[in-house]
Amino acid sequence: MSVVKSKIGIMGGTFDPIHIGHLVTAEAVRIEYLLDKVIFIPAANPPHKQDQQVTPAMHRYIMTVMATNSNPYFFVSDIELERPGLSYTVDTVTRLIGRFGAQTDFYCITGADAIQELPTWEKVHELLELCHFIAATRPGCNSTLDDVITHFGLQGRKRIHRLATPELEISSTDIRDRVKNGLSIKYIVPESVETYILKEGLYR
Ligand code: ATP
Ligand code: MG
Repeated sequence: MSVVKSKIGIMGGTFDPIHIGHLVTAEAVRIEYLLDKVIFIPAANPPHKQDQQVTPAMHRYIMTVMATNSNPYFFVSDIELERPGLSYTVDTVTRLIGRFGAQTDFYCITGADAIQELPTWEKVHELLELCHFIAATRPGCNSTLDDVITHFGLQGRKRIHRLATPELEISSTDIRDRVKNGLSIKYIVPESVETYILKEGLYR
């Protein structure tokens, strides 16, 4: 008897703050790949952001919960927050496989900019054996997507999938700058996140 595997999307990020670009991308991948759920995983200590100041994880976690709450397929995990040291995706996926068992296929959802960095990720070949990568198009970052797939040869063609998603020119960096300069962030973050940022005085 064949067992139907479940499919889980993993949306990792700094989410400083989470915005509509993250949400639209995750939902597009969920629908296209028929995912049972998408787990948003805020990074405690992102390896590629060691040289910049990141908002305390608790705030980023709370905003991620608020932003995803209304979608019945979206969940948030604190798996990287409870682990000290740098947050490597390979460790996170290994732990999730331990938790959900071998009857689950994992799909890491990333923007085209993040996928370009993939060759530098910790134990990347091991990681590509553990999960698929869905590279969602992002304005200004799509031209070298195929180069990354080629870089990994057969493993790349098998495991990295390009998906055209609605391209929203939104970034957390821009949102932080807008708040700092007193500009509106309405409609580029969920209303609950906007309220939280203003109330807690983040990014001023
Ligand atoms: P920052 O400007 O601080 O780097 P960001 O907007 O890039 O923030 P991250 O938390 O760094 O957000 O990104 C988490 C993941 O979401 C990454 O895989 C990134 O490529 C993807 N992502 C972020 N914004 C978008 C967007 N507008 N469209 C598609 N993917 C996105
Ligand atoms: Mg980023």
